Amino acid sequence: MSDWLVSVSPADPADEVGRFEVAGEPEIDAAVARARRAFPAWRDAGFEARARILRRFADHVRNQDVELARLIAREVGKALWDASAEAALVASKVELTLEHGMRHVAPIEAGPGARAEYLPRGVLAVLGPFNFPAHLPNGHIVPALATGNTVVLKPSELAPASADWMARAWRRAGLPEGVLEIVHGRAGTGSALAAHPDVDGVLFTGSYPTGRALEQALIDQPGKLLALEMGGKNAIVVLDDADLELAVAESALSICASTGQRCSSASRLFVARGVLEAYVDRLLRVLRGVQIGPPLAEGVFMGPLVSHAAHAKLMHYRALASEAGSERLLAVDPGRPAPFAGAGLVRFASTQQDHPYQRDEIFGPEAALYPIDDLDAAIAAVNDSDFGLAASVFTRDHSRFERCIGRVRTGLLNWNRGTIGASGRLPFGGARRSGNHRPAGILSTLYCVAPQARIEYAGGFDPATLPPGMPRP
Ligand code: NAD
Repeated sequence: MSDWLVSVSPADPADEVGRFEVAGEPEIDAAVARARRAFPAWRDAGFEARARILRRFADHVRNQDVELARLIAREVGKALWDASAEAALVASKVELTLEHGMRHVAPIEAGPGARAEYLPRGVLAVLGPFNFPAHLPNGHIVPALATGNTVVLKPSELAPASADWMARAWRRAGLPEGVLEIVHGRAGTGSALAAHPDVDGVLFTGSYPTGRALEQALIDQPGKLLALEMGGKNAIVVLDDADLELAVAESALSICASTGQRCSSASRLFVARGVLEAYVDRLLRVLRGVQIGPPLAEGVFMGPLVSHAAHAKLMHYRALASEAGSERLLAVDPGRPAPFAGAGLVRFASTQQDHPYQRDEIFGPEAALYPIDDLDAAIAAVNDSDFGLAASVFTRDHSRFERCIGRVRTGLLNWNRGTIGASGRLPFGGARRSGNHRPAGILSTLYCVAPQARIEYAGGFDPATLPPGMPRP
């Protein structure tokens, strides 16, 4: 009996976005086999031929970005401004990869007869998350294809229609048969694809528990690349000389954008005691005013959470906050049924962070305030986390920010910009439970390839090169 994913808009249970058949082992085997067969011709087609197809894909997506944005908004509940920004990133990733990303995989010339070339790995599996259902799988697919790999995509079970739209755009761009395969399904489909013996690498964006399960599943396949982009428990530090208006605006954006469902969302706010009350007053005012509503409605900043399960998770952690020792300052009533949720804010009296409420990624618009005495205490508090993705420091004094460089252990460190501020021209990734040192962003080309070192010699036999004791042939 076949099994189907039914994609329903979290904003409206009557809005069915699409139905997609779940791939079992035979379908996964067939998809991997088609990708394997397509690999040699795609690899040998050369960079320019591949780039032409990638650019056609980008043109198509650019021309249809309104349609893509509306689909993303419906399917995962992201407000239209947010979904539109995501749709725009899809085409720009192509240019960034072709113009800048490829430089990171240029051949290494090491003197006469010594060179290394970066070669495609083969068939790469891409496992996508729900929260950027187009941009994030695309962030792996574009560099994988540009460097000559073929791909089997397993999108999030919460966003199959957005991924399907992308796969159709690739077909329209003339991508040859088998170069990009798509299989739909849940965890079982993802794990069967990742463990498939004919898959050469797994490019994963998702949560730490899933990344951990993948590490365990692939323990006996050490040669298989596993690039993990995982979660965060991201921190904002506000020092006593900060521009408070800026700090509050960027904090609110970092807490609420995508309804708190970004890997880079802020959930820990470390604020100097001297400005704490002023910061809290302003932040509460902004968070109370955030417009919540259907994702396609005008003027909405925050749509619903992606699912009832995500809503139940947020409520579970909110219920734990007082047990963790905090005082609740805010839990905005969204004025709509679950999975809509408003912003939440709690305050702790010290920077001790022992409770799961303080350590786990909650993935909703929920943040905790902590008072700090000085910059070094703030750095220690930021680092007291199992994750290491993003941190922001608000101060007018650049030298105070400089003290954080190398001391704050995160992959992304921003000055006077929120944690969600990132550039596609830079690496993206984090330390500890946020990732496994395979930074994405502009460096995503790098994990799609493996170097082959070559010693090349065009001369004839020279007896003088023989070591002592080795007879001449
Ligand atoms: P998830 O881990 O639940 O799912 C991600 C993908 O993995 C889905 O396609 C899912 O079906 C699949 N999957 C689930 N279990 C699996 C298993 N055992 N084996 C193989 N595949 C499996 O993540 P999500 O809820 O879709 O996304 C949110 C998470 O992603 C958050 O933790 C967020 O921080 C993280 N994220 C990280 C980044 C980053 O760049 N670091 C970016 C966006 C999201």
